[in-house]
Order: sequence, then structure tokens, then C-alpha cells
Amino acid sequence: MAYKAWFQCIADCGEKYPLNSIIYECKKCGGLLEVKHDLAPLRNKSGSTWKKIFHDRYLTNTWPYGSGIWGKKEWVCPNVDDDNIVSMLEGGTNLFWAERLGHEIGVPDLWIKLCGNSHSGSFKDLGMTVLVSMVKQMKADGKKIPAVACASTGDTSASLAAYCASAGIPAIVFLPYKKISPAQLIQPISNNALTLALDTDFDGCMKLVREFCRRENIYLANSMNSLRIEGQKTVGIEIVQQFDWEVPDWIIIPGGNLGNVSALAKGITMAKDLGVIKKFPRIVCAQSARANPLYQSYLKGFQEFHPLKAKKTLASAIQIGNPVSIKKAITALKQFDGIVEQATEQELADAAARADRTGLFNCPHTGVALAALFKLIKRKVIRSDERVVVISTANGLKFPEFKIRYHQNKLKGVVPHFRNQPVVVPAEYEKVKGAVFRNLEKFKY
Ligand SMILES: *Cc1c(COP(=O)(O)O)cnc(C)c1O
Ligand SMILES: [Zn+2]
Repeated sequence: MAYKAWFQCIADCGEKYPLNSIIYECKKCGGLLEVKHDLAPLRNKSGSTWKKIFHDRYLTNTWPYGSGIWGKKEWVCPNVDDDNIVSMLEGGTNLFWAERLGHEIGVPDLWIKLCGNSHSGSFKDLGMTVLVSMVKQMKADGKKIPAVACASTGDTSASLAAYCASAGIPAIVFLPYKKISPAQLIQPISNNALTLALDTDFDGCMKLVREFCRRENIYLANSMNSLRIEGQKTVGIEIVQQFDWEVPDWIIIPGGNLGNVSALAKGITMAKDLGVIKKFPRIVCAQSARANPLYQSYLKGFQEFHPLKAKKTLASAIQIGNPVSIKKAITALKQFDGIVEQATEQELADAAARADRTGLFNCPHTGVALAALFKLIKRKVIRSDERVVVISTANGLKFPEFKIRYHQNKLKGVVPHFRNQPVVVPAEYEKVKGAVFRNLEKFKY
């Protein structure tokens, strides 16, 4: 039996569309779409058979199965020919045992999923490989797609630019002028994307790119395009795979546009439906206190939701006031007995720096998730005997200003409690010796 997947409206209308149609929302009711899989052929294999298949393919060289995404191709996107897959062996990232940090905060079974150890330095690669592969497939099938475009807070554009450059497909990126890090800006520039810097915020870029794509027949690569969610959903499956198919008690993930938290839930749900796991973890979505529309809604039991104007935050990739995937995220959090927590600038900066002192190198968004973890431990919501996974969404090397300015004590409104500075000393033996022994005490564990 052949594997089948299609787009389906998440609203009651349930309208279906083929995966190779150029469509992002339901034509009938305007609702968001999701990718649905025919579970019947997938159920022809038992849960343990799937586990073995995934295990045997993991990080191997057999094209395209060494990719964490395409090693689960049947569950993700069976509709693309292997020849049209655009992959940079994404996924398969380290699940870091944060042993020292865990002991410090009283939850020793703590793990950090390092999604930033990826081609373009963020988890966005997990979804972009699926989207760009589908574009390549559609082009091979004769569809006219002159270019692919996205709005971005920095990481989506970097990922899109890299995958498009690798496939030889033109990319256009809409960026909020001066609101992303120089490292993120130089990625699409280097990868030869047509880069537009717009005098607005992310939400403003999003509005423009949607209209532009609709009117000019350009393919839209934002996460309302649910092909990306299919790739991103493997992160939860991969985490349980890395624990030999044991499900952790908690998974904590930072959220902005809320595609990733929806994706996490979708993958785990599928793993349970197909007999690979037996229970659910609880999910925590962590937001910046300066861009917290989901948190506000959570405080009201998800009874209501109001978009807001996101304020400037160090966690720039989640500086979003009107998240596209809000409905999917709320459904997911209800299903996973979820919690939403927030972090102030002070909390996220200190959390990232504190964890860095145990060998990590965290981006500010991971700082948000870690700060949420610290707060939930303090409130005894998360207990000391529980297994916790924090999803680190980007590589800290993409946010050097954040880290440099923290240690220079130059972040506005942040007191750096975990500051470290270089000791400037003349290049003379006795002075060096003096400087070392005057300071070494501070560095003892
Ligand atoms: C995109 C992104 C997020 C947020 O993911 P959403 O799907 O928008 O919620 C978090 N962290 C980083 C580093 C990102 O690039
Ligand atoms: Zn519909």
C-alpha cells in the first residue's frame, strides 16, 4: 500500500488539497492547513518495526536517510522523489546531558537538545529541507515557481537562503531593518538571496510577504506553510529515539510564531498513534515577557486570545505579537497538559549565561526556555526526579552581540550576575602569575 499525505484545513470544514498545490490557507474558509497522513499503510508496520527502521537509518550515508528528517520520510513527506530532496543532513543533533547544570538546579536528569548544531545554525533547517524539496519536486513536475520568499526574524531567512542556494532556486527574504543580528543578516547575503530590509517589525514583514506571494505567484516559505511543520515535527520523535524510545516527563521549548511547539506536539502524537511510544510528555512553551501573547492567553485558560505589539527583546527570533500558528499551539498545549511560562530580559540573559558556565553556549531563546525551567523548578511544578528536555533552538554563535554585551555589562536593564571578563595583564611572568593566583579562586567549582 502506498504512503499518502495531503493538506487539510484545521477548521471544521476539513477541505483537502494535494501536497504539491501552491496553497497556504484553506480556499473555502481561510483556515490554516496541516499535513495529514493516511495512517492505514503506516500501520502495516508495527511500532517496533518503525523503531528498527529509524534506528538503522540514523546518521547513515544512504541518501537521503542519514538526515534526521528523511530517515523518517514515510512519516514526513512520502510525496517527494529521492532525487528531488534538498538535504544537508539536518537533524541528528546532540542531546546534551546537562549534568552539572542539572545538579546545580536540582533536576539531575536534564538534557538540552542542541537543534542549533545544524547547517544554518537553527532548527529552521528541519522544516526548510521539506519545503524546498517540495518546491524542487513541483518544478520538476513542470509547475512555474519563479522564486521562494519568506519574512523572518533572522533564522528562517538564513535557512531558506542556504537550501535554495544549494538547490539553485532564487530566494527572496523580507527582514525587519536593524532588528536581527549581523550574523543572521550575513547568512542570506552570503547565500545570494535577494535581501529586503524593511522599516517595520516581523509582523509587518509577514503581512507584506503574504500579499506579495499571493499577488506575484511566488512560493511562500513561512511556517503557515505546513510543509515546514512536517520536518520540524521530527524533533520530538528524535528526542525519544535518543532515549531508546523512553518518553521524558517534560519538554520545554521557546515559542514565537508557535509553529515549532505545534510541530513538537504533532510528531509525538504521530509516534503514539503508530505505536512507537505509549505516553505523552508534558510540554512547556516559553515566551519572552516582552512578546507574550500566548502567555496572556494561558493566564485566561486559553478562553481568549489577543494579538499584541511585540516589544523589543533580546530574544529577537521570538519577538512576535501575532503568531500565525496560535490555534494549532493552543490545541497542542491542551492535549499535552501544557504550561506557558515567560521570562524577562534579566531572567533570560542570566539563565543563558548560567548554563554557559556548564559548557553550553546558549542563544537568547534557549535562555528563555532555561529561565522558564528555573521558575518551574522553584515553584515545584517540575520535580527533582523528573526527566526534562530543553529544546535549544539556535546556536549561540549566531548571537555574539548578546553574549559580548552581557559580559561587558552593556545590556540595558540587565545586571549580569554571571559575568566574566578578560584580565588585562602585561606580558611579564611575575605579573601573569600574580593575576592568575589573585583570580583563580573565583573559577573553582
Ligand atoms: C524561529 C525561532 C523560534 C521560534 O519558533 P516558532 O515556530 O516561531 O515559535 C525560537 N528560537 C529560534 C532561535 C528561532 O529561530
Ligand atoms: Zn477550511
